[in-house]
Amino acid sequence: MTSWKLRCTDCGTEWILKVSYDISDLKRIYHYCPVCKKNTFHEVLGKVEEKDTS
Ligand SMILES: [Zn+2]
Repeated sequence: MTSWKLRCTDCGTEWILKVSYDISDLKRIYHYCPVCKKNTFHEVLGKVEEKDTS
């Protein structure tokens, strides 16, 4: 799983999306926003590096 930082273009909220595929080529994705409670466009701000604690 890779974590991606997204920003909703509707409400401006930044949040983390975990997906199993690479979305770094995408400038924007259409996804459900937990704040707007609807599907909105999100800017892909970049990959979030996670420390492997195992
Ligand atoms: Zn939103």
